[in-house]
Amino acid sequence: MHGDETVGREILLHLIDFLVTNYGHDPVITRLLNNTRVHIMPTMNPDGFEATKVPDCYYSLGRYNRNGEDLNRNFPDAFEYNNVTIQPETRAVMDWIKNETFVLSANLHGGALVASYAFDNGNAATGSWEGYSRALDDDVFVHLAKTYSYNHASMYKGAGCDNRQPFPEGITNGYSWYQLEGGMQDYNYIWGQCLEITLELSCCKYPPEAQLEKFWRDNRVALVEYMKQVHLGIKGQVMDSRGRPIPNAIVEAKGRAHVCPYRTNDHGEYFLLLLPGTYVINATVPGFKSKLKTVEILDNTANFSALKYDFYFSEVSVTPRAASCPTSPLYGEQERTSAAGRAALHSVLATTILLAVMFK
Ligand SMILES: [Zn+2]
Repeated sequence: MHGDETVGREILLHLIDFLVTNYGHDPVITRLLNNTRVHIMPTMNPDGFEATKVPDCYYSLGRYNRNGEDLNRNFPDAFEYNNVTIQPETRAVMDWIKNETFVLSANLHGGALVASYAFDNGNAATGSWEGYSRALDDDVFVHLAKTYSYNHASMYKGAGCDNRQPFPEGITNGYSWYQLEGGMQDYNYIWGQCLEITLELSCCKYPPEAQLEKFWRDNRVALVEYMKQVHLGIKGQVMDSRGRPIPNAIVEAKGRAHVCPYRTNDHGEYFLLLLPGTYVINATVPGFKSKLKTVEILDNTANFSALKYDFYFSEVSVTPRAASCPTSPLYGEQERTSAAGRAALHSVLATTILLAVMFK
């Protein structure tokens, strides 16, 4: 996302090469690709990369796009109105997220060594008063972040970089590290129905070329193990009396109703990432009685398939209209009263962050 953070871009090129050359030879990679749709975008900010003329471990102008905008502050925000002009790069990614059924993702950065998870922003509704902005799927997010850190060569040690903040087990809640608005991670989770974590892959944002091979080796296992986690939980289709898929049906686990409800895609498909355990899954077609199903979910990631369960609405013969959540703050109510105070705080934070800790 940030053009001056170059390690992620390089290891994704390695990853593409690794996947296509091992397909048909390595049994794990073959099964992974036979059961998973994988999309890889090596860079979201090519202009920033080109603008980074002098390699620099720390902050540089290449963080921003051609228009001087930080793409990881450029998305709609669930907690407050994000007063920015959405950039072409951001718009393209938002369209991509909307038009594919993404389930799991990661966005790659540099300048620290940690796996950071939602939320990056927060308010009283998500527990920000205790310095941790908790998503309903917090247990899944912690598992995803640990899957990456413990399969990485050293991230799990959580040593931090130089004398900077250590991260126990190599993970952190995004808000606990530092609050930001307009990040891709929160956007993807709220509006994209996709659990995303932010990976900080190198203390030095733009290391010497000779170190790239080691960065790839340090991350290779973690990247593959992370991709397998897309098969956590439960998936299936919602269908009508004639076995036709019902799009826009709401399917959620009881007690985990997302602020923007997760809906089936055009194929009537739903995907819910859930850790092993017992859950009640609630399928709702607007205007009809909900269907509940209690399921026992095991860890199926080694089988490359989530538990499969289909819902049938034999009484339904109409297609629910598409419904989309507004791209305005969905958690916004508690925030409005303190807007003036926040503006002052932001300017102080911005100065500090630009100098020292701007990574994600
Ligand atoms: Zn970054």
